[in-house]
Order: sequence, then structure tokens, then C-alpha cells
Amino acid sequence: MKITIVAGARPNFIKIAPIIKSIQKKENEGANISFRLVHTGQHYDKNLSDTFFEELNIPQPNSNLEVKSGSQSQQTAAIMVAFEQELIDNPCDLVLVVGDVNSTMACALVAKKMNLKVAHVEAGIRSGDMTMPEEINRIVTDSITDYFFTTSETASENLLKYGADPKQIHFVGNVMIDTLMQNLGRIQKPDFWETYDLETGNYIILTLHRPSNVDEEASLQKLLLGIDALANGKKVIFPVHPRTKAILENTNIDFKNIIYVEPQGYLAFMYLIKNSFAVITDSGGISEETTVLGIPCFTMRTTTERPETTTIGTNVLVGISIENLEKEFHLFLQNGKRNGGIPNLWDGKASERIIDILLTL
Ligand code: UDP
Repeated sequence: MKITIVAGARPNFIKIAPIIKSIQKKENEGANISFRLVHTGQHYDKNLSDTFFEELNIPQPNSNLEVKSGSQSQQTAAIMVAFEQELIDNPCDLVLVVGDVNSTMACALVAKKMNLKVAHVEAGIRSGDMTMPEEINRIVTDSITDYFFTTSETASENLLKYGADPKQIHFVGNVMIDTLMQNLGRIQKPDFWETYDLETGNYIILTLHRPSNVDEEASLQKLLLGIDALANGKKVIFPVHPRTKAILENTNIDFKNIIYVEPQGYLAFMYLIKNSFAVITDSGGISEETTVLGIPCFTMRTTTERPETTTIGTNVLVGISIENLEKEFHLFLQNGKRNGGIPNLWDGKASERIIDILLTL
């Protein structure tokens, strides 16, 4: 079986790493499976792309479509045109897409129109928020997927509700957690640890890049000033995503606690998360990692497509108002850390399960 694996953006790279390792293992054992890796070029900054390939030992892509930035439609269209040619030049039996970025949806559409089978890893998760481009990508991708690989029973149930055949749905666990477990022994202190005098368990990590939080300069400033105040002497390390950086370019605020740093590589970022006091974020993936690491996480969103991070894990959904974050954060300071659990099958073996299933097809 020839599989074309698609990756376009930072969270995709983290998800494909263990899948590729599992394929290589089976290939070495003589199984009839091989892959071709296509990077769409959606994320192309070194610290959002190359660093992840290097740190996670992902092989160099066989092809880079180099689509770069653009509006939602420009980017989606550019990926589709380039990926169609890629598949004409390099035929395969199955296209495997991960996550919920524009590359996921665009490449699934192209593959299906060329009568190829489509496998979607992290299928079935739903926020219910149609203003999120990711939610549209999820729904469109899942409407044409042949093999659904899910991270939770809830995701599998969502797919059944949408009319998927139960035989197509495979609850396998979470490949992001495979990567976390495979690399926990390799995590590294970032080089600014001493510069900022960071202490284990005594700083906060902040990441923000969703349009609802960062696209309005005035409300972003209000949010940051509020977070700076609630930190109350604890340093807040803020790896600034390029989207957020563009908005903050002309803003000069004198923070007491917030420290801007570049987006971090995986190994330094995981070190920072694992040793933090708490995390404030609008990322979905980070709320999964904090769940497994047992780190308190406050998610600045009104919905989550990963409900198990709040029902089982350490994640609290606080909405997008600073007032609500302050309320939830003070409750946490009063009551202490919640004892979270780890969702079913988030055990580091999801990729192996996926490849074992694909080999039976
Ligand atoms: N991440 C990282 N460095 C950073 C910020 C995030 O390595 O500076 C990792 C993070 O641990 C998680 C993934 O990137 O695994 C999440 O990416 P992002 O927030 O871009 O995507 P989302 O989860 O929002 O889809």
C-alpha cells in the first residue's frame, strides 16, 4: 500500500511524526506499506516548520508545494491545484490527512475527486462553532473520509450522528500524545531559562493565536494587560505566534510580568509546559498535552472540540473575557490544582493502531 501523507502546519508536523515512525517500523519488518510525505508549505517559518522536522526526526518531505500565506480561499485553492498535480505525478492508494488545517481539507477534497481513499486522523471532533475555519475544515474533511481515526468516544459518536458507517470509524487514541510520550525523555530547557531566572512550577505559559482573541488590537491589549495583572509577580512566558505578532507590531505596552519570546521548538516548549505553574492558551492541542501532564490549563475560547480535556483533564474553558479568566484563575488559586485523569487510549500507541488497521485494508 502506497500512502501519501499530508502535512502543512505546526500541529500537523507533531501529529505525523509518530505515524511515520510506525510505517517505517512495519516497512522494515517487510510489510507491504510505504509512504510519500507532502509538505504543503502552509507554515514555512523555520520555527514553525523546519525545527519540528529536525527535533522530531521527520524525514525531509518528498515534495513541498510551497503555497505559503493567503486568504482562506487563496490558500485552499493554491493547495488544491498543487496537490492535484502532485498526485498525478506520484500516484498512491490512499491519502492520509491529520487535524483540521486548510491543508487537511484541501488535500482530502483533491484525493477524493481523484477516486483515492482518504484516511483522516483526529476525525470527528466538533466545537460547534462555525466561525472557526478549523470547524469547517473538520466537517468538510469528514464528509468525504473513508477511514476515520478518532481520539475519543465522543468523536466517534459525532461521526455516527453525521451518518458515518460504524465500520469506517476506528477509535485509536491520540497521536499528539504518542509524540509527547516518545519525546518526554528528550525535552530541553530553553536557552532563556537562566536569562529570565525561571523557576520550576513558578511561571505561566501563554499562547494566543485564534482570530477571536488576537485580530482586534484593542481587545488583545485588554486581555494581555489583564493577564499581566493576574500573574501577580509570576513571570508569563508568551511565545508569540506570527499572526499575533503582526497585530502587536505597533503596540508598545510596558508589562510587569509578560515576556515575549519567539515560537518555541517542540522540545523546549514541552519543557516549559511540563514545568509551569499553569497555562493560558487558545490552542486545542496544548489542552491535550496539559491534560496528560496534569498542568492546569485555562482555555480562552467559548467552545472546545476536545471536551474530554475539561471533563477528564485539567482544562477549564473560560470564554474570551478577561473577567471570566480572572474569576476562574482566582478559584484555582483558592482551591488548588484539580486532579485530572488521562482519557482512554491516550497511551502513546495510537499510531501503531492506525497502521495495524491500514494494513488490514
Ligand atoms: N507548540 C510548540 N511551540 C510553541 C507553541 C506550540 O511546539 O511555541 C506546540 C504545542 O505543544 C502543540 C502544538 O504546537 O503540540 C499546537 O499548535 P497550535 O497551537 O499552533 O495549534 P492548535 O492546537 O491550536 O491547532
